[in-house]
Amino acid sequence: MNKYIVIACAFFSLNAVSEELCLNLNAGHGGRDGGFMRDSILESQFVLEVAKQLEPLLEAQGIEVNNVRSADDYISLDERVDIVSNAPDCMLINLHAEPGSEGVYYKGDENRDFAKSIKDNLSVYIKQPLAFKEKAYRELYGKKAVYINLPLGDNSSPKSMAGALYKSVLRAI
Ligand SMILES: [Zn+2]
Repeated sequence: MNKYIVIACAFFSLNAVSEELCLNLNAGHGGRDGGFMRDSILESQFVLEVAKQLEPLLEAQGIEVNNVRSADDYISLDERVDIVSNAPDCMLINLHAEPGSEGVYYKGDENRDFAKSIKDNLSVYIKQPLAFKEKAYRELYGKKAVYINLPLGDNSSPKSMAGALYKSVLRAI
């Protein structure tokens, strides 16, 4: 490996770790609450799979990931609030896949730039226009919080969505 590549790699990994970033990853629904279904794919299972694949990708960049739901369990909103409250200074991504509402939503001006960056990058990586607007969503919110509705169905694989989200989050932070 030539020395310039070594220097570039060292800089990139140091940069990621030194930020001490963390992320609450909140996959919606679960258990008796399956959410939407399209092409026989259940929203709860789809977003769970995306979250599971996204977690190690971000951790490899030095980002601590707090996965709110790591199994097909029902977790109430109150329980989710408790889990996320353990790490209030971390970013928060609420993951859903609601057909007809594909997009990135935010709540509060302080989250707009972060959400806009994720939306701009994600729509390029998944090659699909995405909605972007402020929305008084019922889910959790806080510092650098977004609500993302991924496309659901036969043309949307968890692996490709996790890869696109990974690159979009890295560019947004
Ligand atoms: Zn949902």
